[in-house]
Amino acid sequence: MPERRPVGVFGGTFDPVHVGHLRLAEEAAEALGLAAVRWIPAGQPRHRASPRVAAAHRLRMVDLAIAGNPRFCLDAAEAESGEASYTVPTLARLRAELGAAQPLVLLLGADAYAGLPGWHRWPELFALAHVAVAHRPGFAVDAAALPAALQAEHRARHVPGDDPSALAATPAGRILSFPMTPLAVSATQVRALLAAGRSARYLLPPAVIDYIDLHHLYRNHDGS
Ligand code: ATP
Repeated sequence: MPERRPVGVFGGTFDPVHVGHLRLAEEAAEALGLAAVRWIPAGQPRHRASPRVAAAHRLRMVDLAIAGNPRFCLDAAEAESGEASYTVPTLARLRAELGAAQPLVLLLGADAYAGLPGWHRWPELFALAHVAVAHRPGFAVDAAALPAALQAEHRARHVPGDDPSALAATPAGRILSFPMTPLAVSATQVRALLAAGRSARYLLPPAVIDYIDLHHLYRNHDGS
């Protein structure tokens, strides 16, 4: 059977989406030979204050940010569900949609990867997708520094030399890391700038800045 190019799956709160997210997805697509990257903004839990901005706004900002990139597409299912989001059910949905043979790659920053053992049903993830970890300033991609439960999975599943061709060879179950241009931007920083009335220009795509201005987002929060 011919190998299929992997499809990237990129979830986040994107509160708001910024250049760190965009470069992560773009560099992952290039470095890992992805056919596409599916962006999946997280839903808004009904009874919780966080994320700061409603799912409909976060979804629209991602839509604006990725416009014109033929490799990127938006998956609105989590944002439109009105519930808290969980990655394992989302991957199961994509697996059902794209078929058992399609390689799927969950894209994570190094901070998110280290936090994986806190995720709902996380050990089931590896039967559904590969995991590709982007380097992020301030966070090590170092097996020895990982929580013990993840360390065992990491050692068993890690692709020697981070060779991306391993991702096309099987539908799921491998772990690798990839370098990306170090960008220390975070949504927390962007929210803090906006809340203080300062400029977030060049940290976000212009269309996202315009959207934030138009809807007066983030200005009245404390930015934490
Ligand atoms: P916050 O500051 O609100 O926690 P964030 O900037 O980390 O937000 P998320 O939406 O939580 O953004 O992140 C989505 C994914 O993008 C995560 O896997 C995260 O690790 C990754 N990511 C975000 N910013 C960067 C960055 N600057 N470099 C590498 N990875 C990043």
